[in-house]
Amino acid sequence: MSSNLYPWQTELWQSLAGRSQQAHAYLLHGPAGSGKRAFAEHFAAFLLCKSPQQQQPCGHCSACQLYAADTHPDLARLEPEEEGKGILIASVRDLVAKILQTSQQGGRKVVIVEPAEAMTAGSANALLKSLEEPAGSTIFLLISHQFSFLLPTIKSRCVLQSCPLPSEHVSVQWLQQQHADLSLEQCQTLLALASGSPLNAQKLLNADVLAIREQVVSGVKQLFKQQSSPSDLAVAWAKIPQNLLFDWFCQWAQLILRYKMTEDESQLGLPDMQVVLKHLAPRAPLELLLETQNWLLEHRRKVLRRVPLRADLLLEALLLRWQALLPR
Ligand SMILES: [Zn+2]
Repeated sequence: MSSNLYPWQTELWQSLAGRSQQAHAYLLHGPAGSGKRAFAEHFAAFLLCKSPQQQQPCGHCSACQLYAADTHPDLARLEPEEEGKGILIASVRDLVAKILQTSQQGGRKVVIVEPAEAMTAGSANALLKSLEEPAGSTIFLLISHQFSFLLPTIKSRCVLQSCPLPSEHVSVQWLQQQHADLSLEQCQTLLALASGSPLNAQKLLNADVLAIREQVVSGVKQLFKQQSSPSDLAVAWAKIPQNLLFDWFCQWAQLILRYKMTEDESQLGLPDMQVVLKHLAPRAPLELLLETQNWLLEHRRKVLRRVPLRADLLLEALLLRWQALLPR
């Protein structure tokens, strides 16, 4: 398990690691991709370390070595068995039974729960008593990407710690440190595509999203110039992750609608599509636009839920609708 802090977490770290007495439970909340999990892992290593130095885990003691090998017996992670699913009551009960035993290393026990909002009402109830009066010296680190979904009973038993995204300046700096060949503009594009998260921007970069974006934008332009047909593009885009395509088309539909209402040029999104969106906005019939947006949102949900759909037919349907926005 790696345990490193990101540069934008220094202050947050000092406020938690510097506490004279640790709370029984912390709730780290903030937008996805702000580095909460890495922070919680590093904090767990610190809480388990037998001789922290300068408010950092020492890296040498037996606890630090067990942590590094991911075999520390007094660290537990409570997560859904499958991503996107709920945390099962049975998993919570197993955990509660485990933390009632004495610590194997004679120190603290740490439990990381991620994402806390994946606890159903039943799982949350099964955990409440332990959260309130933890056995021995157990410390809970709950991570939440969607704070408003959490039960008040869970929130009220934790010390709340917000973990915001870094500023654009700090994010760009960090991205350029990781990838020296990225230009400022590329960094800004990636960050915009990743809703401001430098960590998600890096994932997009690794997935070659800048090149995909260019391909899609140029495809849309060809579509309106009648240089490509919906079926040509559907074939050309067959390997592009559908969630990306649906995210972008949903955003574009929304930007066109907004521009149609406000004519505010500063609200046209990333530069690569501004001209196209501005051209479409006054020409696309409002009713058709709203209908297209509903269709996109509905199919985006299906894509996210991984409902099996024929990719080529789905993309062709999307592009036919999109093409119809510009009346001949
Ligand atoms: Zn140590």
